[in-house]
Amino acid sequence: MAKLYFHYSTMNAGKSTVLLQASHNYRENNMDTYLLTAGIDDRAGQGRIASRIGIDAEADVFRPGDDLQVKIKARLDQGRVAAVFIDEAQFLTKDQVWQLARAVDDLRVPVLCYGLRVDFQGNLFEGSAALLALADEMREVRTICHCGKKATMVVRMDDQGRVLTEGDQVQIGGNETYVSLCRYHWREAMGDLPDC
Ligand SMILES: [Zn+2]
Repeated sequence: MAKLYFHYSTMNAGKSTVLLQASHNYRENNMDTYLLTAGIDDRAGQGRIASRIGIDAEADVFRPGDDLQVKIKARLDQGRVAAVFIDEAQFLTKDQVWQLARAVDDLRVPVLCYGLRVDFQGNLFEGSAALLALADEMREVRTICHCGKKATMVVRMDDQGRVLTEGDQVQIGGNETYVSLCRYHWREAMGDLPDC
C-alpha cells in the first residue's frame, strides 16, 4: 500500500538533507523518483532542492494554483517512479494536500512530504496543518535548542539579531535569519515568560 508521509521539523534541522538522501537511496537501486519543491522559495535556484551540507538535486516546482494529482499523473505517464518527494511542504495549500492524498490512493504512488510544522509565531502552516490531518505516517526530523532540549519552535530575527514578533508568515529573500529553539526559550525570546 502506498502511503502519504509527513516528515516535519523546525528550521535548520536538515530536512532537505534527509529528503535528498532518501531519494538517492531509490536512485542508487535504479528506481526513479519525482522531486517537487515550492516555486515560492528559489534560494537554491528555481527547481532545485539544496541542503546546507552541500548536496542538491533538480526538482520540478509547485505553485498555489497547481493541481498536484494532475502533475504527478503527467509524470507517471512518462515513466514509472518509485516515490514522489515534496520539499517545503508547508507551502502546499489544503487542496493540494488532498490532491496528494488522492494520488497516493488512486495512482498508488508513495508521496513523502518534508516541511516545517509551525511558523515563527507558533502557528501551523496551511500545508502542515492539512498534512497533520491527512498523512498516513508522520516522522519528526529533530534538531536541538542551544540548551540541549529538542527544538520545536523557531524565531525570526532581523539583521541586527533582534527577535521579530510580527510580520508575514512567509518572507523570502530578506535578511532575516531563523533560529530553532525549545518552547521555553522561544517564549523567552518572544517576551512570554512571567516576570520573576
Ligand atoms: Zn532551550
